[in-house]
Parts: sequence; C-alpha cells; structure tokens
Amino acid sequence: MSTSADIHHYIRTIPDFPKPGVMFRDVTTLFADPRGFRMAIDQLLHPYSGTRFDKVIGLEARGFILGGAVAHQLSAGFVPVRKKGKLPARTIAQSYTLEYGEETVEVHDDAVEAGERVLIVDDLLATGGTAEAGIKLMESLGAEIIGTAFIVDLPDLGGRARLEALGIEVHALCA
Ligand code: 5GP
Repeated sequence: MSTSADIHHYIRTIPDFPKPGVMFRDVTTLFADPRGFRMAIDQLLHPYSGTRFDKVIGLEARGFILGGAVAHQLSAGFVPVRKKGKLPARTIAQSYTLEYGEETVEVHDDAVEAGERVLIVDDLLATGGTAEAGIKLMESLGAEIIGTAFIVDLPDLGGRARLEALGIEVHALCA
C-alpha cells in the first residue's frame, strides 16, 4: 500500500526558481515516473471514491495534466481554466491578486452547466488565489463544487484556510 510520504519522495525542490528566494516544488519528476504518476492520480481520487462528478476542472497548466487523468478515471468531462486570452470561444473571467500585480483566468461560459458537480484540480496550493479564482468561475456558472484536489499543500501560505473558509473541501497529498 502506497502512502502520501511516497509522493513527497518523487517531488524535488529547486531553490531560487523562478526568482531568488523561492523554493519551487518541481512535480515534473513525479509526472515522469510511471509508478509515481499512477500513485498520484489514485491518491487524488481516494477521498472521492464512489462520488459522482460531471466535470473535472483543471487549472493551468499542471492542473491539465492531472485533471485529464483524473477525469478519465472518473468518467467525467474535463474543463480547462486558462490564463486570459487563450480560450477561443466566449468566456467569463476572474482576476486575482498576486504578490506583485494581478492575474486573470478564464473559462468558456458553456463549459459547465448549472447544477453540474465538479472537482477542481491543480498541482499545488500556495496562497489559494488561483484556486479561489477557479472556484468563483465555477460558482458564476452555477456549478456545484464537490471538492478540490492538489498534490502539494503549502499550509503556511494560507491557501487551505482560505478555501475552507469558503466552505470548500480541500484534499492534498503532501505538504
Ligand atoms: P497560489 O495561487 O495558491 O498562490 O499558487 C498556486 C499556483 O501557482 C498553482 O497553479 C501552482 O501550479 C503554481 N505554483 C506556485 N508555486 C509553485 C511551486 O512551488 N511549484 C509548482 N509546481 N507550482 C507552483
């Protein structure tokens, strides 16, 4: 039986990326390992076993890699939440604040129907700004957000508390 500690083992930390002082969690090593990747997808799904989802929502960009595999396992559809200007059809947008400046993410306005049950997936939860933007987009479309799933949670940065304060279930494999 694999544990979340095993997942941690596949992730490397790169100092000073993308700028000095940042310790970047590099999950490409987890994705590249056949056993690690399968374990990660299985563990992301674990608390939601037996739960029905209509759509998996992947946050750009590593959330696409995980979300596609998770959607396949759940026999659900996959919906990308993308950085501004990348989606071709009509979108709704949500902006959020970064340490320096602002980011905007978008989703097609017909990607999810009101009442559909969704799972939001990304590789890492830090301040929670990205995930909250995805949550707001889903709420705007009337989706029912059943939960979220991340490989890494950095609890010191407050993301988990921020999402839980919104009443959103947070599932993460390691810190
Ligand atoms: P937040 O919005 O929660 O502050 O940041 C999370 C977003 O930034 C996620 O989409 C995640 O992919 C990206 N991110 C921030 N820091 C890291 C990191 O150290 N490693 C990885 N893989 N992604 C990060």
